[in-house]
Amino acid sequence: MSNLNKKVVVIGSGFAGLCAAGTLAKQGHKVLLIEKNEQIGGRARVWKEKGFTFDMGPSWYWMPEVFENYYQQFGKKASDFYHLKRLSPSYRIYFGKNDQVDVPSDYQSLRNLFEEIEQGSGDKLFRFLNDAKYKYETGMNDFVWRPSNSITEFFELRIVKALFKMNLFGSVSAEVRSLFKHPKLRKLLEFPVLFLGATPQNTPGLYSLMNYADLVLGTWYPMGGMNEIVKAMEQIALEQGVEIHVNEEVRSIEHQHHKITKVITSKSSYEVDGVIAAADYAHVDEKILPKEFSNYNPSEWDKKTMSPSSLLFYVGINKRLKNILHHNLFFDEDFEQHAKEIYTEPQWPSKPLFYVCCPSLLDRSTAPEGHENLFFLIPLAPGLQDSETEREKYFEIMLDRLEKYSGEEIRNHIVVKRSYAMNDFVKDYHSYKGNAYGLANTLLQTAFLKPKMKSKKLKNLFYAGQLTVPGPGVPPAIISGQLAAMELSKNL
Ligand SMILES: Cc1cc2nc3c(=O)[nH]c(=O)nc-3n(C[C@H](O)[C@H](O)[C@H](O)COP(=O)(O)OP(=O)(O)OC[C@H]3O[C@@H](n4cnc5c(N)ncnc54)[C@H](O)[C@@H]3O)c2cc1C
Repeated sequence: MSNLNKKVVVIGSGFAGLCAAGTLAKQGHKVLLIEKNEQIGGRARVWKEKGFTFDMGPSWYWMPEVFENYYQQFGKKASDFYHLKRLSPSYRIYFGKNDQVDVPSDYQSLRNLFEEIEQGSGDKLFRFLNDAKYKYETGMNDFVWRPSNSITEFFELRIVKALFKMNLFGSVSAEVRSLFKHPKLRKLLEFPVLFLGATPQNTPGLYSLMNYADLVLGTWYPMGGMNEIVKAMEQIALEQGVEIHVNEEVRSIEHQHHKITKVITSKSSYEVDGVIAAADYAHVDEKILPKEFSNYNPSEWDKKTMSPSSLLFYVGINKRLKNILHHNLFFDEDFEQHAKEIYTEPQWPSKPLFYVCCPSLLDRSTAPEGHENLFFLIPLAPGLQDSETEREKYFEIMLDRLEKYSGEEIRNHIVVKRSYAMNDFVKDYHSYKGNAYGLANTLLQTAFLKPKMKSKKLKNLFYAGQLTVPGPGVPPAIISGQLAAMELSKNL
């Protein structure tokens, strides 16, 4: 019997769900994508208020070829949907008042910057990025496409050799620190792995591939905002015949002979041949599946290292700004202290590092005439007690520092403001412990050591998204959706 035209439900419409749905529909399956929220896109939704359009989650567009690869499968390219611009400089790091570095987008200027900060570091940068290139190419063209169902997928001499060459067992931090002495260069090179949810000390050296993505492949921006990617993927899914239901929550399943037969939602029930669970993995395990069918039990989930949660503010101001860039990192406080307060002694940070994005500097569609659109983010330990008072306290801290370093008056110009933190992540996405971007990429949570994509107990269920392989971030979520779709397809 042909394996085409099977009925598949995809739970959750983040990037993983959208890409799984598009991929399965292209293979000829009848796909229903079910999303609990009013908008699709998951963590990449938008909030519109008084003429402002705020991207609610991701703001850094890295690894553009991962997006292109997905579009290509449907005979499309990113430029069919949105105009991508490379940011130059890529971003700014504030180390203190009148002490900042703008990270250039071209290699020669970057090398000059390194030499200015630490003599002799230009050659080391060249070597470091060459290594990072090898890791990026091997990682992104090969490793991330392995479903990692079993360690045996990596039993090949070529692969084992590559794992050593990629410094899987060392840390990004050790690698950076062995080459560069200056604290500014160390911070600059250790920053990208923070996207992966763990400290540079706990992130395998393999992930310096992120430095290649950052410093060589560049930081891009889709005009119109990050939600343009969601619109592109929605269009592809619809063209492939995917049916999308919003405002509908998956509540439970029915099963027979170790297969899901029905998906039950807040509105209806659907007979299925296969399911992709692209909602938060722990939520699926704990709330949707009967206990005996979950892949991991609550105590196993509790032991996993989650990526941080975040405190966010979406702020509109009635003036234009001159003295900041699109992406601004405030690394003017002790990195280690903040990391400790996220990972080892979870608490609200005593002196937080934070990030401010101002997309309206480049993209006037995100704010009304004469106004600016600002997004603030402080990484926080997942599972903290969340309250309005705490949120406000940290907003004031960030404003003080932003005003001081940029020399811009902001406080009295605020016309729109909304905070977003742990409680919202839990309520809106069923996020485990309010995590913002999934599971941390530590050594013990890499590849086949991550929560498995394949259900151990239900033959026609595969998980996708930022809590399984390959990991957190938009490009990995895109790959995860495609991988899960291919795995399910083989099993249908
Ligand atoms: C504040 C923030 C900033 C970030 N910055 C960046 C960045 O700059 N660059 C980058 O690459 N990555 C960034 N990330 C990470 C990136 O956004 C995520 O890794 C990625 O979007 C996750 O996609 P996903 O499909 O795995 O999950 P999600 O986007 O969470 O999608 C899961 C979906 O499932 C739905 N759902 C849950 N339960 C149910 C249910 N029972 N029934 C139906 N639907 C359900 C949820 O509502 C949600 O829509 C950021 C994340 C956050 C939160």
